[in-house]
Amino acid sequence: MSNNMSDNNQPKCPYMTTADGAPIGDQNAMTAGPRGPLLMQDVALLEQMQHFNRERIPERVVHAKGSGAFGTFTVTHDISKYTKADFLSEVGKKTDTLMRFSTVAGEKGAADAERDVRGFSIKFYTDHGNWDMVGNNTPVFFVRDPYKFANFIHTQKRDPKTNLRDNDMQWDFWSLCPESLHQVTILFSDRGRPVGYRNINGYGSHTYSFINNENERVWCKFHFKTNQGIKNYMDDEGDSVIASDRESSQRDLFEAIENGDFPSWTMKVQIMTQSQAEQFEKDTGWNPFDLTKVWPHADFPLHEVGQLELNRNPENYHAQMEQASFSPSAFVPGIGPSPDKMLQARLMSYADAHRYRVGNNYHQLEVNKPKCPVFNSQRDGVMASAEDYGSRPNYWPSSRAGTPDVAPEFKDPAWDLGQTIVDRFDSTVDHDDYTQAGNLFRMFDDDHRDRLATRIAGALGDAREEVQMRQLCHFFRADPDYGSRVAQKLGIQIPDEMMQHA
Ligand code: NDP
Repeated sequence: MSNNMSDNNQPKCPYMTTADGAPIGDQNAMTAGPRGPLLMQDVALLEQMQHFNRERIPERVVHAKGSGAFGTFTVTHDISKYTKADFLSEVGKKTDTLMRFSTVAGEKGAADAERDVRGFSIKFYTDHGNWDMVGNNTPVFFVRDPYKFANFIHTQKRDPKTNLRDNDMQWDFWSLCPESLHQVTILFSDRGRPVGYRNINGYGSHTYSFINNENERVWCKFHFKTNQGIKNYMDDEGDSVIASDRESSQRDLFEAIENGDFPSWTMKVQIMTQSQAEQFEKDTGWNPFDLTKVWPHADFPLHEVGQLELNRNPENYHAQMEQASFSPSAFVPGIGPSPDKMLQARLMSYADAHRYRVGNNYHQLEVNKPKCPVFNSQRDGVMASAEDYGSRPNYWPSSRAGTPDVAPEFKDPAWDLGQTIVDRFDSTVDHDDYTQAGNLFRMFDDDHRDRLATRIAGALGDAREEVQMRQLCHFFRADPDYGSRVAQKLGIQIPDEMMQHA
C-alpha cells in the first residue's frame, strides 16, 4: 500500500498539491491574457514539466522488459546439513520474496512472446539480509568467459550502422564461440518461446557454494520448477499472440495474481562435494564451474527445499519493478560464490549497473531495502535517507557509542586453492562444447528435431555462407543428425569431408 493511499484505495491527501505539499487551487496554465504567453511564476506547472522530463531512468542494457510480483517462500525440506542459511534453517519457515521475470535481448517495448531466454530473479528478504538468486529459465549460458559477455550482448542488440537486429552478426559470434552451442540449442528448441512467466522453470545456472554450521563447504546449483507446468508457443501461435498483444506475459502474470490464482515454484538444489567435483572433471572432462554445462541429474539428483508462491502484485510498477535491483553479490551467511568466472564478473557488474541506473543508494529504496537492520560505514551520496544511520559513527573501528562490531561467527571459511597460478587462461581450448548440446538434441523426438532445425535454418539462413558453414560444423560435432537436418533446411549439400570431420 503506497503511503498516499488509505486502505480503501482513497487518496489520503484531499487535494492536489505541489511536490512540496502546497495545495493547488487551479490547474489551468497561468497566462498573460487567455491566449498567453505563460508566466514563470506558474511554479506548479514548471515543476510538473521538469519532473516529466526526468521520469525515465536508464533502461537495463539486458533484461529491460520485465514483470514481477511479491510472494512468500516456505521451507518444506531440511537441508541444514548443507547450509547454515537462516531462512532455510527449519521446515515451515517463511520468507518474504520479490520476483522479476524478463526477456533478455529486447528493449523495454519488446514483445513478451518473442523467442528469447527469460530472466528469473528472486529477492529473499531474510533476517540475515537479502539473498538474490539472479538466474534465467535455462540452466546454462552462451559464454564462459566474462570478456565475451558484453560482446555477446552486442550481437543480440542492434547493428551500429543499420540499427537493426542482425542474424549474420548473431551467428557470426555463435559460430566463432562453440561454447554457445548448448544454450543455442535450448533457445531454438520448443522451450525458446514460453507462453508466460508462470510456465517457466528458473535456474541459478552458476555453481554456488553452501556452507554449513561446521563451516564445511559444498558446491550447489539452484533449480525452481514451475508448478504450473512448462508451456511454450509453437512459432505460429507466438507470432499471432505478438500481433495482438505485446504484453502477453505481463498480462498473464498480473491477472492470475489479481484473480487469486497464485503461481508457485518448487525450489530444488543439486549438491557436489569438492572431491566429487574433482572426480566429475576427471570422468567427464567438464569443469563443474563452467556456466555452459549442467550437472547431469542422474549423477547429482535434485533435493527438494521449499515452495515459492507469488501472491501480491506491485502497487506501482516503476517504484517496485523498474527500480527493483537484483544482484548475485547479495549473499547471506551459508550461501556464497564459486570460482565460476562468469559469476565472479557478475558479482561486480550487477550492483554497479544499479548504482548507475537507480543510484548509489539503491539499497535504501523500499523495494530493495533489507527487512533486517543495516549498519556499515557507507554514507551520503545522491538521495541518502540516513534513516538507518542518523548521527552514528561513519568509520570503523570506532570506540564511539552506536558502532556495532563485526560478527566472527559469520566469517566464511578459507578457500584452499592449492598451488594456484594467476594467469589469463584461454577459455576456448580443452573444452567439450558438443556432448551436452548433443545430449539435449538426442532427448528431442523427431518432430522437435525438425522444428529446431527449421528455426535455426530460418535465422542462420540470413547469415553469410562462410558463417553458415562454420556453424554447421558445430551442429555436426554435436550430432550428425543435428548437422544434416540444419544443412538440409538450408539447402546445403554436405561435402563428404564435413561428415568425416563431424
Ligand atoms: P536428464 O534426462 O536427467 O534431464 C533432462 C532435462 O532436460 C529434463 O529434466 C528437463 O529439465 C530438461 N529439458 C527437457 N526439454 C528441454 C528443452 N527443450 N530445453 C532445455 N531443457 C529441456 O538428463 P541430464 O541431466 O543429463 O541433462 C541432459 C540435458 O538436459 C542437458 O544437456 C541439458 O541440456 C538439459 N537440462 C539438464 C538440466 C540439469 O540440471 N541436468 C536442467 C535442464 C535442462 P527440467 O526438469 O529442469 O525441466
